[in-house]
Amino acid sequence: MNENDAVRKATLRARAEIDLGALRANVRSLRAHASGAALMAVVKADAYGHGALACARAAVEAGAAWLGTATPQEALALRAPGAGIPADVRVMCWLWTPGGPWREAIEADLDLGVGGMWALEEVTAAARAAGRPARVHLKADTGLGRGGCAPADWAGLVAAARAAEAGGLLRVVGLWSHLACADEPGHPSIEAQLTRFREMVAYAERQGVDPEVRHIANSPAVLTLPESHFDLVRTGVAMYGVSPSPAIGAPADFGLRQVMTLTASLALVKHVPGGHGVSYGHHYVTPGTTTLGLVPLGYADGIPRHASSAGPVLVEGKLRTVSGRIAMDQFVVDLGGDEPPPGAEAVLFGPGDRGEPTVEDWAQAAGTIGYEIVTRIGSRVPRVHVNDANDANDANDVNDARA
Ligand SMILES: *Cc1c(COP(=O)(O)O)cnc(C)c1O
Repeated sequence: MNENDAVRKATLRARAEIDLGALRANVRSLRAHASGAALMAVVKADAYGHGALACARAAVEAGAAWLGTATPQEALALRAPGAGIPADVRVMCWLWTPGGPWREAIEADLDLGVGGMWALEEVTAAARAAGRPARVHLKADTGLGRGGCAPADWAGLVAAARAAEAGGLLRVVGLWSHLACADEPGHPSIEAQLTRFREMVAYAERQGVDPEVRHIANSPAVLTLPESHFDLVRTGVAMYGVSPSPAIGAPADFGLRQVMTLTASLALVKHVPGGHGVSYGHHYVTPGTTTLGLVPLGYADGIPRHASSAGPVLVEGKLRTVSGRIAMDQFVVDLGGDEPPPGAEAVLFGPGDRGEPTVEDWAQAAGTIGYEIVTRIGSRVPRVHVNDANDANDANDVNDARA
């Protein structure tokens, strides 16, 4: 079986095509939106379901100087031999729990987000054991009320970090924070957080901290809040061509294009009479004689069950709606008498060029956000990366979500 046969077989049921050309163009657009700052491509959670390594490489090709992840394991994978990430790309992770792995992270030259005293103590001990200083970004809770150091504890954390710096155990290379409501332009917490951030940065700098980068902006802030850009912006969802929220606007408003296209092959098309119940619970009953198409994707593949009787699907150029319950592995669409052949393509979402639904349409149908729709697409759906700048013949490359 040659490589193309393998690709075809793996993708017969369903596939998530990942347009790396669109991702590279999105990174360039975002860099233009934040032209005074460096860009961190956030590739946590397998690049929001798009495949971490392929997306990290493409983002770097388009000028991302930083990569960001939540867990240290995700960051270590980007530094693994063969990952193809140049050594001068900074890799940062921020979601730590006691036990680390701090030492592996220091030895892999990761940048470490530290938001509390226990973490500073563990990173200092690990740096001593490793015999090399850690690169630390001190995180301020400027109002999100999630991770990071509360303002009341900031002086203590900064003092401890300065002492460790004096001992050669670490360098504070970053001061950073995260916004609570950047996806709601004009929300009063935004200005309050920026003011608090400037104060906490100024305090640390008065204590002698000399950071390489100060950073607080996520995707919505990159798109709407130039005063939040500082030295570095951390972009996730916008890089994948999905809007952070309808209040921010559509991807195209910012020169962004959706990267993931999710399609499946119809597993069955059949005629049924009127009054026929469809799928578990019979929440849909055919209004008259019709045809039903079976789409072989379900909630095990990340298709939200909350989109039962609501999710949109394009079949043979016509927009259809999920009929009844979305099951673990499959759902049904009423095709209104049309008879596409088994194997015909059902497009759940894509960039919209063919009139297909978008990720945002599915988010609306399921009562959630676009972030969750793409991130939850399951490991059973092969990711097919196309428009890879390194593939001379554009032979597509199939990876499962763990790759
Ligand atoms: C996930 C994450 C981001 C990226 O957020 P987007 O809204 O997807 O751009 C940035 N910073 C931190 C700390 C994050 O956890």
